Amino acid sequence: AVVLGIETSCDETGVGIVADGRLLGDALASSMEEHARFGGVVPEIAARAHLEALVPCVSKAFADSGLTPADVDAVAVTAGPGLATALQTGVAAAKSFALAWDVPLYGVHHLAGHVAADTLEHGPLPRRCMALIVSGGHTSLLLLDDLARSPIVHLGDTRDDAAGEAFDKVARLLGLPYPGGPSVSKAALTGDPDKIAFPRAMPGSYSFSFSGLKAAVARWVERSPETLHVADVAASFQEAVVDVLTAKAVSACRDHDVSTLLIVGGVAANGRLRELAAERCARAGIELRVPVPRLCTDNGAMIAAVGGLLHEAGEPASPLDLSVDPSAPLLRAMIR
Ligand code: ATP
Ligand code: MG
Ligand code: FE
Repeated sequence: AVVLGIETSCDETGVGIVADGRLLGDALASSMEEHARFGGVVPEIAARAHLEALVPCVSKAFADSGLTPADVDAVAVTAGPGLATALQTGVAAAKSFALAWDVPLYGVHHLAGHVAADTLEHGPLPRRCMALIVSGGHTSLLLLDDLARSPIVHLGDTRDDAAGEAFDKVARLLGLPYPGGPSVSKAALTGDPDKIAFPRAMPGSYSFSFSGLKAAVARWVERSPETLHVADVAASFQEAVVDVLTAKAVSACRDHDVSTLLIVGGVAANGRLRELAAERCARAGIELRVPVPRLCTDNGAMIAAVGGLLHEAGEPASPLDLSVDPSAPLLRAMIR
C-alpha cells in the first residue's frame, strides 16, 4: 500500500511517501532558525511555518516518488504528542487529503513513528524487540510486540530531563549553538571523555534521570569559567549520557531475553552513542538496529511507515473529526 505521512509536531514539517515499507519520496522544512532568537520553539511561529511549508513539501514528496495522489491508499499524520497548534496544522491538512482522495486516515503517535523509522532502512521488526527512544522530549525503554496491534510496555522513562534536552541545556551552559546534540558531539570530538567523572544516575533501574548530570556540568562551568576546557566537558558529559543509555538498554534486553535492540529518536544520531551501543551489543550477542541520522530526527516518512503497518494490519481508520493530543502517552502506535 502507498501511504502519505505528515509530521508537524514541533518545528519540522515532514512529508514522506512509503510504499510497502519502502521510502519513495520525502521532503523536510524547518523553522528552527526563526526560533533561535527566542531560545526555544515558539508554537505560533511553528504553526504558521507548517502552514506555509506543507503544500510545497507534499508536492516535492510526490515529485520524488514519481507517484500522484491517485496512487495513495492511506494518509497518516502525527496526532500527538507535540505542540497543539503545530499538530493541528498537520492534522487539518491530513484530513483534507484523506477526504479529497477518499482514503483512510490514521492518527499516529509521534514516538511510534521514531520506532518505525528503522523499518524503512532495516526492514520489518522482529516480533519481540527492545526499543530505546532518545529524543528532544523523551527517553524511554520499551518492550515491543506487534507495533501496529499490541500495547507498548514501558520498562522505564526519564524522571526529569530527556537525553536530547540534556544535550540542549549543556550546549547552552558551554556557549555552544542550538540544537545542542550536534554541537556538543562536535566539541566532544577533540575532548577527553575520561577527564571528568560526571554522575551516572539510577544504576540498576530502567528509569533515567539527567537533571543531576546537567547540574554537575553547571557547577563545573561555574567553578572555573576562565580555564574551562569546553571539549573535555563536552566529551565527559556525552560519555556519561551514552554510558547510562547503553548499559540500561543492554541490561533490559538480557533481563527480558530479547535479542534485538532498536535505538531511535534524534539522539540516536549521536556518533559516540552508536559506537558504544555497537560494542556492548556485540559483546552481549544482541542485534543492534539504529537508523541513519536523517531518519533519527523528525521526518514524515516515519509517520507514513506507521500508517503502512496499521493499514497492513487492517486497523480501523481514525474518524475525520480526529483531534490532536498534545501530551498523548505512548500506549499504542495509533491515536484515534
Ligand atoms: P520528541 O521526539 O521527544 O517529541 P523532538 O521531536 O524535538 O522530541 P527529535 O527531533 O527526535 O526530538 O530529536 C531532537 C533532539 O535530538 C534534540 O534534543 C537534539 O539536540 C538531539 N540530537 C540531534 N542530533 C544529535 C546528536 N548528534 N547527538 C546528540 N543529540 C542529538
Ligand atoms: Mg526537531
Ligand atoms: Fe521527535
